[in-house]
Amino acid sequence: MMSKKKILVVEDNNINRAMLASILDSQYEVLEAENGQEALDVLEQYKDEISLILLDIIMPVMDGYTFLSIVKENPNYASVPVIVTTQNDGESDEVAALSQGAADFVGKPYKPQIILHRVASIINLRETAAMVNQFKYDRLTGLYGKEYFYKSAREFIMKNPEKQYDIVCSDIENFKLINDVFGVPAGDALLCGIAQIYTQYVNAHGICSHFHADQFVCLMEHDVVEYSDDFFAQVNAKINGLTKVKNVSLKWGVYVISSAENVPVEQMCDRALLAARSIKGQYGKYFSYYDATLRNQLLRNQEITNEMEKALLEEQFVVYLQPKYKTTTRELCGAEALVRWIHPEWGFQSPGEFIPLFEKNGFITKLDQYVWKKVCMLLHEWDQKGLRSIPVSVNVSRADIYNVNLADILKGLAETYNLEPSRIHLEVTESAYTEDPKQIIETMGCLRDLGFMVEMDDFGSGYSSLNMLNQLPLDVLKLDMKFIQSEMAKPAEQGILRFIMDLAHWMNLYVVAEGVESREQLERLGELGCDYVQGYYLAKPMPSAAFEQLLQQLDAIKDME
Ligand code: C2E
Ligand code: MG
Ligand code: MG
Repeated sequence: MMSKKKILVVEDNNINRAMLASILDSQYEVLEAENGQEALDVLEQYKDEISLILLDIIMPVMDGYTFLSIVKENPNYASVPVIVTTQNDGESDEVAALSQGAADFVGKPYKPQIILHRVASIINLRETAAMVNQFKYDRLTGLYGKEYFYKSAREFIMKNPEKQYDIVCSDIENFKLINDVFGVPAGDALLCGIAQIYTQYVNAHGICSHFHADQFVCLMEHDVVEYSDDFFAQVNAKINGLTKVKNVSLKWGVYVISSAENVPVEQMCDRALLAARSIKGQYGKYFSYYDATLRNQLLRNQEITNEMEKALLEEQFVVYLQPKYKTTTRELCGAEALVRWIHPEWGFQSPGEFIPLFEKNGFITKLDQYVWKKVCMLLHEWDQKGLRSIPVSVNVSRADIYNVNLADILKGLAETYNLEPSRIHLEVTESAYTEDPKQIIETMGCLRDLGFMVEMDDFGSGYSSLNMLNQLPLDVLKLDMKFIQSEMAKPAEQGILRFIMDLAHWMNLYVVAEGVESREQLERLGELGCDYVQGYYLAKPMPSAAFEQLLQQLDAIKDME
């Protein structure tokens, strides 16, 4: 049961006090005091538990006015509402009481219903006011809270129609991690520091708010600062100098308010936050403007997300195979499985668009398992037909690495389709190795022990350190196509391709070059000792039936020899 609200009745006359108590005690817990001094003692004891004071003005020891002024001057009690009881004809008493901070008055003789109503409505008023105040300011930073910011921003814009404003927001990358590593108090200190910096920048030119967690949103006059990556890089550096928390990376989003559009403030803030989120993880990029492209991108992503499950069920995803050849003999010796989405209405969809989205929304793990299964089924089918037994590479996403069942799934597939695990090559992109080497070494090491072949995809596209290479459970290094293209543009003696090739061989790794687009490239790769090649110059990704024909031709040639 909820405890009753407490009301303090301050009245020297025993009969009056008893009457008030009997009126109130059905709904409230009544505390009594005979004079002002006693009342102060009760207040001291119960402090903010008291919801309201009913005060008689004429009392011995300490009269009502003195008591009232003491209460209103003390910050601990000032917010407790006081209703004064007066004689019915005591208009001057009423005015005096109200002017000293009383919330209301009731006359004598007491009318129970009126007293109960006034008490209830004053308590209600005070509680609402307290709530509004609580939401007006964010407790931690002292900036406006979200709701109050919306309201104030609307007013600000309306009051200054001649001025142009922007919504500028920020988001901290990996804020949860900061709290984990440095502790919540350090995270809080960082947020307070950021609030101070924003207040200084915005100054009288707008208002700042702390939405929640690591999100800050400001309304700011246009042209007060010139937004650029350099400017925000400086703010970022300033924030890093604030507390012991280092390597804080913030992303800013700017929504330029246009008077031509009638967009609600809430939506403006969403859009600015969206702009900030759109550059998440992009090194060296600190801020982004919101624009319609971003919105269309979001809508498009939403469309894809709505369709993906159905597409998987309806087998709209199709596995294509791109042949891999032995560089020296140009002999077909494998393939990479690349997924294609053929949507009944939209037609062919580029993996370059949907794969990154599926990696973000997690659907990639389902799609990858589907692709792996299809590949195993194909290999099994070819075996049944007596075709050449070649390996096929499948792509393994970052998210797959974190799936605790990964090894079981792949092992299960190899068993079901009666395949040596070495027929299945697993391509993991280079950047996944640099992000979480420990996890990846463990998972891929385990898969390699089971007999699967492990390839590092896109090697040379990022920053994988060469000295880490020999600690990784790897069989194949797959050179990134851009890396190859840029190296090919350099004179042979200046490139590092030969060095990489020698290093890989010294570590007993095979080297595959992808994205081979010309004969020159192919020849050069041959000279450098690259083991396998894959690229448009040799063959594009193709449907599995077309690839099967290549396999059949291969065996026909062999038979003729
Ligand atoms: P990736 O694994 O590095 O695959 C190589 C990409 O290069 C493929 O693009 C392929 O079609 C393309 N390519 C091959 N040879 C050439 C060439 O000579 N010139 C040029 N310009 N491009 C060439 P695709 O099929 O668009 O796939 C893009 C990326 O999407 C893949 O890069 C891979 O990361 C991802 N992906 C494709 N299928 C799957 C899948 O089933 N699962 C996962 N997780 N990712 C996939
Ligand atoms: Mg690949
Ligand atoms: Mg690649």
